[in-house]
Amino acid sequence: MNTLLHPSKTEAGAAFQPPCAAPDPLLQQLPGIAWTVDRDLRFTSRAGTALSALPVADEALPADMYEAVGSRDATLPPIRVHLRALRGEAGSYEWQWAGRTLHCRVGPLRDEAGRITGAAGLALDITERKAVEEGLSRARDDAESLVRQLRESEGRSRTLLASLPQRIFFKDAEGVFVQVNELFARDFGLLPDELLGKTDHDFFPPELAEKYRADDRRIMESGETETLVEFNVVGSTPRVVEVVKKPVIGDDGEILGVLGVFTDITERKRMEEELAYERHLLHTLMDNLPDLIYFKDTASRFTRINRAHARALGLAEPGEAVGKTDFDFFPADQSHEFCGDEREIFETGRPLLDKIEVIRTATLGMRWFSATKVPVFHEGEVVGLVGVSRDVTDRVKADLEMKKVAEELRRSNEDLQQFAYVASHDLQEPLRMVASYTQLLARRYRDRLDDDANEFIQFAVDGATRMQGLINDLLQYSRVGTRGVAFERLDLRHALDRSVANLQVAIEESGAAITHDPLPVVDADPGQMAQLFQNLVGNALKFRGEQPPVIHVGCERSGGEWVISVRDNGIGIDPQYAERIFLIFQRLHGKGEYPGSGIGLSICKKIVTRHGGRIWVESAPEGGSVFCFTLPGDDQEGRSEKRETSKQREGEDARG
Ligand code: ADP
Repeated sequence: MNTLLHPSKTEAGAAFQPPCAAPDPLLQQLPGIAWTVDRDLRFTSRAGTALSALPVADEALPADMYEAVGSRDATLPPIRVHLRALRGEAGSYEWQWAGRTLHCRVGPLRDEAGRITGAAGLALDITERKAVEEGLSRARDDAESLVRQLRESEGRSRTLLASLPQRIFFKDAEGVFVQVNELFARDFGLLPDELLGKTDHDFFPPELAEKYRADDRRIMESGETETLVEFNVVGSTPRVVEVVKKPVIGDDGEILGVLGVFTDITERKRMEEELAYERHLLHTLMDNLPDLIYFKDTASRFTRINRAHARALGLAEPGEAVGKTDFDFFPADQSHEFCGDEREIFETGRPLLDKIEVIRTATLGMRWFSATKVPVFHEGEVVGLVGVSRDVTDRVKADLEMKKVAEELRRSNEDLQQFAYVASHDLQEPLRMVASYTQLLARRYRDRLDDDANEFIQFAVDGATRMQGLINDLLQYSRVGTRGVAFERLDLRHALDRSVANLQVAIEESGAAITHDPLPVVDADPGQMAQLFQNLVGNALKFRGEQPPVIHVGCERSGGEWVISVRDNGIGIDPQYAERIFLIFQRLHGKGEYPGSGIGLSICKKIVTRHGGRIWVESAPEGGSVFCFTLPGDDQEGRSEKRETSKQREGEDARG
């Protein structure tokens, strides 16, 4: 060191000046390089093992620091540190030189008077140490990141395990639980850590635990993953679980154990069973209904049909219809019609209800069906339709038959009416002739013939007159149907007034009292309504008892219709004749007792029927009879108004 600090004078201009004194053997052994520079940074001495290791000839060694660095840039560490040393400050720097890393330390070089004459430097080769240090630090970094990653991944798998909805366990090759998640442990009322080290034998009956062990062994041996569905009881809850067991194999191929993931499928199983039951119900229903049931896709292809339908189509099995269309079974014109209907359903989403279709098939011949087709929606889209066709052949035939009969009846009624009218009308004339000539005969020849002849003539006159009466009645009866006028708004009170006026003489003679409830306004034939009242009130006067007649015309609203009643205090009617008296020419009394022909009530019935009502007779509780008839009612509002009007009139009556 002394040599370095006190170098000998160097010869100016020499490229390299070895130290004047022989190099200190210690210096020669220095694992690096030592040097001195003058104030111009020219090398004044150099020594060290590193020098000899350099692949450079001595003459080629740089003469000054600038050359050694290859630059005059004063900010470069070697130059900066040397210049600083010239100012009296020691410093150090690291420098890459000839593939080596040198750690250099530089201080001022002073003469005996303490003046700075240059700088002395020592460079130690730290290439290896550096490499080791870097390696170490890299290894430390790697280890740290590994630990961090491990921690993270462990955390992640822990959270993953905890948050999975499945129960998860890992058993080692001996069947000992090594890792389980919380859900798994919770079934046993334990925490995951409390389960570790235990086996199935700690939780399940021996046979079950053995079975699990056998499953695990098989899986470990085969190396195959298996899915097992099993019933088991944990605590007191029976459940169905689906277990996926997978062998866990280490990097070296060694079997480490079994990983199990199992899902509680009790609810799923229950729903599956429910669904299966519903499906079974549906199939039973479909296949046992006599109606033809089918499902079609939006291309009108059958996707499913029931047995009844298969039979109708002449198929052995319903499945044979799948994929086919109506064109495979029915004539083209019909199939076009059906498909047209279905297209409309698919386009509009509206069902087709109760359409009567005539279907001709090989097996059924010609049958009538009532077809209902309803669109099937899935997530708001029409995806097909379900159709039900009901065989209504019998009903349609019965309807047709009934229509025919009704039509025949109407025609024959019309004929009959026409006949009755024509007969009674046309018979009148010859009868009038018979009557007037027998009467003439009676008048002219009364005293010229014997008593017998007189009596016979009288019989003939009587007969002819009676027949005239009957024919008149018949004509009147047939006119209800043929001569009725169109209905108009009619205050029934007016009709009653008219009939009472017509009966004025009989009323006065009998001293009858007639009262009535407020009467409504209805749609009716005025003439016929007056006749109806006249016949009923007339009968009440005619069939009176000992007391003067007391007659009341009542009115009630019942179930949307008017019920009008004519009550009297007369002789009454035996209930057994209640129906008969409404038949034409039916009477309960002899002509001598009460006059009449028995046409009155049958005309009443015909009038009421023409107005859409019914007529019947009841016995009045206090004796006498009550004839009731109905007429279709108006809306409520109209009635109250009308009732008020009638009440007003009733008041007027009382005053009158
Ligand atoms: P007619 O009055 O000409 O006999 P109807 O057809 O009017 O014919 O009556 C048929 C029969 O019904 C009557 O003969 C009578 O026996 C019975 N009848 C009708 N109205 C009454 C009444 N208000 N009270 C008792 N009997 C009656």
